[in-house]
Amino acid sequence: MALSSKDRVMLALKGKKDEIDRTPVTCANQTVTVEQMDNLGIYWPEGHSDAEKMAQLGMAAYKQCGLEVADAPFDQAVEAEILGCEVDLGKKKESIPSVPFHGYKEPGDVPIPEDFLEKGRIPTVLKAIEIMKKDVGEEAPVISHTNGPFSLAGHLGEINKILIMILRTPEKVKEFAEIGIDLIADYANAQFDAGADVVTVEDMLASTDILSPQMYDDFAAPFNTACIKKIKGPTILHVCGKGDLIVESMIGSGATNISVDMATDLNKAIPKTRGRCTIMGSVDTIKALFQGTPEIVREQVISNIRQGVDLVAPGCALSPLTKSELIKAMVNASIEYFAE
Ligand SMILES: [Zn+2]
Repeated sequence: MALSSKDRVMLALKGKKDEIDRTPVTCANQTVTVEQMDNLGIYWPEGHSDAEKMAQLGMAAYKQCGLEVADAPFDQAVEAEILGCEVDLGKKKESIPSVPFHGYKEPGDVPIPEDFLEKGRIPTVLKAIEIMKKDVGEEAPVISHTNGPFSLAGHLGEINKILIMILRTPEKVKEFAEIGIDLIADYANAQFDAGADVVTVEDMLASTDILSPQMYDDFAAPFNTACIKKIKGPTILHVCGKGDLIVESMIGSGATNISVDMATDLNKAIPKTRGRCTIMGSVDTIKALFQGTPEIVREQVISNIRQGVDLVAPGCALSPLTKSELIKAMVNASIEYFAE
């Protein structure tokens, strides 16, 4: 019997290479594009705050392009929003919600609602997960997203101010990051209860473009580890930027899988993961999937497979302006490679 995308992804995440027919092609991050929105007649920003629309958009890359995932939410502002940060959901169909908040001065200033799972857009996300699970849950893995604790700290304290705090009052940064440990774990566990198969902890602000490897180890890694320990299902840890010097720490987080950015050297990263976790990556979201051609995408997928990734995936979130043709090329490259 042919494997479903869900079986293929879940087995690959657990490192059971012998039980799958080919390397799955999935995504740890957001997959929605304007082309998918146009096909559905459902658009952002409504798709960020309406559960039914969020679910339909979250399944679009699977239904329209065969990408082996249904995912939600599509932005990094959900947790910050329930903690009182100002959030801009954007006005255009391609705009990604942002947190224009000026930052709390003190970690103690952050109001943490008792019933935070019922606040803001969290019920929307949980409902969208439920809808996706019902619709495609037998065939495709539902992969939902949270922030990493450092990224949440970057919203709460405002990232530029947090970077100054790292130099002047580092203990305060750790207190900001600590806020996320239980909150994010509880949110992730609620996502599992709603039907998620896997949760990606997206630590985008812990990117090596922002933090040095030493700063990552001091202010991001321990909080990811503590948070992931409390999450009850399979996890993917995604960190942006060139991950060569933080791969060891990412593996140490205890995540089931690490999702590395395209700037990371897979030839060095993959051997470190063996026997410890699985790894997905890392088709270039700009040079291949946004500006590239089907041939460039295909070459990258085949190169990723030959290097030994457990799952092929974009190196980061898809740009909303990515063409479906190139997402399909990414999926087909693996199918054709293993058919040969
Ligand atoms: Zn990224």
